[in-house]
Amino acid sequence: VSGTVRHVLAPSSVAVIGASEDLGKFGGRILHNLVKHRFAGRILPVNPNRATLLGLPGHPTIGAAPGPVDLAIVAVPAAQLLETVTQCAEAGVRACIVFTAQLGEFDAAGAALQEQVLGVARRHGMRIVGPNCMGMIAPSQALGLTSSPTLQHVDALRRGPVAFVSQSGALMGALFILGHDHGVGFSTMVSVGNQADLDLCDFLEGLIEDSATRVICLYIEAIQDGARFAALARRARNAGKRILAVKAGRTEAGSAMARSHTASLAGSYAGFEAMCRATGILLMDEPEGMILAAGVLSAAPPMGQGSIGMVVSSGGGGAVMADRLVAQGLPLAAWSDATHARLDAHFLPTHRNNPIDLGAHKGALGPHIFADAIAAVAEAEEVAAFIYVMTPQPLMPETLEAVIAAWKRTSKPTVFVLDTSRFAENVRERLLESGLPFVTRPDDAIRVLDALVRERAMAAEAAQPAAARPHRAGPLPAVTPGFLTEPEAKALLAAYGIRVTREHVVRDAEEAVAAAEIIGYPVVLKGVSRDVVHKSDLGLVHLLLGDAPAVRDAFAAVAAALAGIGAPAEAVVQEMVRGEAELILGARRDPVFGPMVLAGSGGVLVEVLRDVQLAPAPVSVAQAEAMLRRLRLAPLLDGVRGRPALDVAAAAEALARLSWLAADLGARLEDVEVNPLILRAAGQGVVAVDGRGTLAAATSGGAGA
Ligand code: ADP
Ligand code: MG
Repeated sequence: VSGTVRHVLAPSSVAVIGASEDLGKFGGRILHNLVKHRFAGRILPVNPNRATLLGLPGHPTIGAAPGPVDLAIVAVPAAQLLETVTQCAEAGVRACIVFTAQLGEFDAAGAALQEQVLGVARRHGMRIVGPNCMGMIAPSQALGLTSSPTLQHVDALRRGPVAFVSQSGALMGALFILGHDHGVGFSTMVSVGNQADLDLCDFLEGLIEDSATRVICLYIEAIQDGARFAALARRARNAGKRILAVKAGRTEAGSAMARSHTASLAGSYAGFEAMCRATGILLMDEPEGMILAAGVLSAAPPMGQGSIGMVVSSGGGGAVMADRLVAQGLPLAAWSDATHARLDAHFLPTHRNNPIDLGAHKGALGPHIFADAIAAVAEAEEVAAFIYVMTPQPLMPETLEAVIAAWKRTSKPTVFVLDTSRFAENVRERLLESGLPFVTRPDDAIRVLDALVRERAMAAEAAQPAAARPHRAGPLPAVTPGFLTEPEAKALLAAYGIRVTREHVVRDAEEAVAAAEIIGYPVVLKGVSRDVVHKSDLGLVHLLLGDAPAVRDAFAAVAAALAGIGAPAEAVVQEMVRGEAELILGARRDPVFGPMVLAGSGGVLVEVLRDVQLAPAPVSVAQAEAMLRRLRLAPLLDGVRGRPALDVAAAAEALARLSWLAADLGARLEDVEVNPLILRAAGQGVVAVDGRGTLAAATSGGAGA
């Protein structure tokens, strides 16, 4: 471990302020955990009233303890916090883990005290973890630095490559036990609390540099510095370290809960999701599944080319599981001739499906049948990930050995589902000792396989060339801040090479007719005003105008409607575009992660279907096309039921160009939208027929600036 957090993650001496022998006290549980798990560094109990604690010499004050002290544990009541932290700082302690709660997350007085504590630490160059945290569990250092009672129920902290950084303290203890019971070995788990000083990113950085860590799990309530977080995610990917994350705040309820936990605001979930995909973070839906997935992922390299091969001990369970995998879009392997040939020895042709049901073998039962079948599937060239579902069955220990042997031989990602409740404690013990992490819930098996497949897809995307500025994108025309009219927004789009309608702004009926004659009938006439968001709602959109009288009537109607809201008579006359489908393309600035682009099904269905894809800007044309192909409407793009295939390439090009506009606008971007972009048949291009946008005044700083 190196960097800012090294004295925290790998201390050579730990002082416990308020150390006690009493397991009912914070300082007691921490000291017991430290001693029980045989921390190899110096343990310095600080207690004014005790000469020895658990056989260790006690020190009356932190100042009296022999230095240097890398890390001090502070779990005193808030009233004594400032004094205690000051004593630590004056004694030259390098970092304090502050458990004390009811500070910044609680009320104004708590926030003020937190600031004072931070001030003292900064003046002395001492770092703070927390406050309002639960410490850490670092098996790689034999360090149980938490008050969590769970550690007293575990004989040895299982070491392994999985790390965990958490904005929730209680979750750390709970996930430690969950992982422990499923064979997941941890390097370090740390809870960051209010992040007054050291924050989640500091620990993420430290763990990327930590040689004992290969997979990093994050529980996030809010990200403070989006740019740094994204940069660290990319660095982790380049270093071959995998990151899994769960973020609260997916729904309004989740956000509210998260806010009351820590003193920071949750950013938008969709922006976070897009950033994760772009940087290779595996976003998971729940913490338990994340830890179990991390365990399985850490036991093998990423999934290679090929599909999923499954063997089950019971036909019924296997069929349901197979249905669920397929429904989730996870690829089940079709056996090759070579695999068929190997399976023929033990199964009738009608029973060599994927999954293979061991119960359906032919001939007499024998362990070699199971071992052969497992080897045939796990070793198959078409199989890139192997899953075995064990329900109560004959020959459990022998079958388990066959799976373990196949996992070791193939080093393919292997998902072992021990779906036996308490039926086979001997199998569980053997699994734990084998080093193959496992799951017990079928849901988790699906989660893990899904994570493996998503990871592979993200790696393939990352291998694509980065976004290059398209020809003729920019420079930005002069733009007035505030809400843009359709012609103003289209001027921005056109400057970035996006095809917009041919159009003219007009102020009276005769100008409108003159414009229509230049453009050619039929035309479209729309009212123009900075005060209108949805023009159709106010009767300001007139389509398919075939001649001069129609244009005059439309202008009169638009002028009257605008007068009704106190706006001057102004309209835009434009070509009438015909096409096959409508998309919405948009850009907005995420407050945490900066400029984002989105694509979705256009028209009124936008809100109903919520069929949108988001990505951090800029994106390459290939990435833009991938976004379009992830939409639920994607089949329409290729032409369904006799409809022609659409110009997806042109739509992707427009999206990529919009993403450069968004990136270049940076902090000035609030949002820019094309709704609709009309798609024509392949080769015939796309046209932005409507545009809107809101720009902030140019500022210095801010995300994406
Ligand atoms: P709004 O402000 O209500 O979104 P739009 O300019 O998008 O107004 O017009 C409403 C609808 O009219 C569009 O969704 C599109 O279907 C159609 N439309 C608008 N302009 C054109 C055009 N130039 N060519 C063809 N259809 C158009
Ligand atoms: Mg529109």
